[in-house]
Amino acid sequence: MIIVPQNRKAITTAIQRMVKTRTTVAQRQQLRLVARRLKGSLLGGNQVECPCCGRCYRRFLNFGQPPRRNALCPHCGALERHRLLWLYLQQRPALLQQVRYLLHVAPEPILRANLRRFPHVISITVDLDQAGVRTRCDLQHLPFAANSFDAILCLHVLEHVPDDRQAMQELYRVLKVGGWAILQVPIHRQTTFEDPCVQSPAERLRLFGQADHVRVYGMDYYERLEQAGFAVTRDAFVHTLPPAQIQRYALMPDETITLCRKQCPVLT
Ligand SMILES: [Zn+2]
Repeated sequence: MIIVPQNRKAITTAIQRMVKTRTTVAQRQQLRLVARRLKGSLLGGNQVECPCCGRCYRRFLNFGQPPRRNALCPHCGALERHRLLWLYLQQRPALLQQVRYLLHVAPEPILRANLRRFPHVISITVDLDQAGVRTRCDLQHLPFAANSFDAILCLHVLEHVPDDRQAMQELYRVLKVGGWAILQVPIHRQTTFEDPCVQSPAERLRLFGQADHVRVYGMDYYERLEQAGFAVTRDAFVHTLPPAQIQRYALMPDETITLCRKQCPVLT
């Protein structure tokens, strides 16, 4: 049988639907992992290197909508932002040295695994619906006492949260004075665009770039964090790396690290 492009798309859709209806979430995750690593086995080479898992390839897999070239590590699933964060934490060892309790929101498997190399760090993983986390909860209402955590990692989550200002206040509340939080979001505009009336996945995809996003952040994201109480540093760490390393690790050349701190309140 000759599979023309239209047929191929229909067959792919039918297979995806069948897999979705006949498997559990965990089984689908496992299938995706196997498929990703199979694709990776065809990309042997040494042109790119994943600092998260140490694997080398000819190039990384494409990922995203629209697809970004050279983005996804076939072995561990790290994207540009994860590779950047891991390099950052490795080159700023003081950040993790001072941490006892770390709140890890929507934990990425490879970061979660790598953090276990720091036995003094106790990671409290949270997510609204991800299986295997320590606490399932809503970022807008965290079930932790104030000043519970020395550090927080929260990458590309706030653009999914309906009331992100409430979530930012919650993150600030549970962080200890003197603690730090790395709160990454995608930023594609000057001013944040959101519309709570937009509810359908198709409309969200059209307007916000992903079916489960509720806004597109602009440069005013940092002001929102400051309004929640954080002292914000936009660390252009990637610019301190040689161009050859940026290329080898396939980083986004202008991605900054949003490093937030909870400072001592000023007494008046
Ligand atoms: Zn990797």
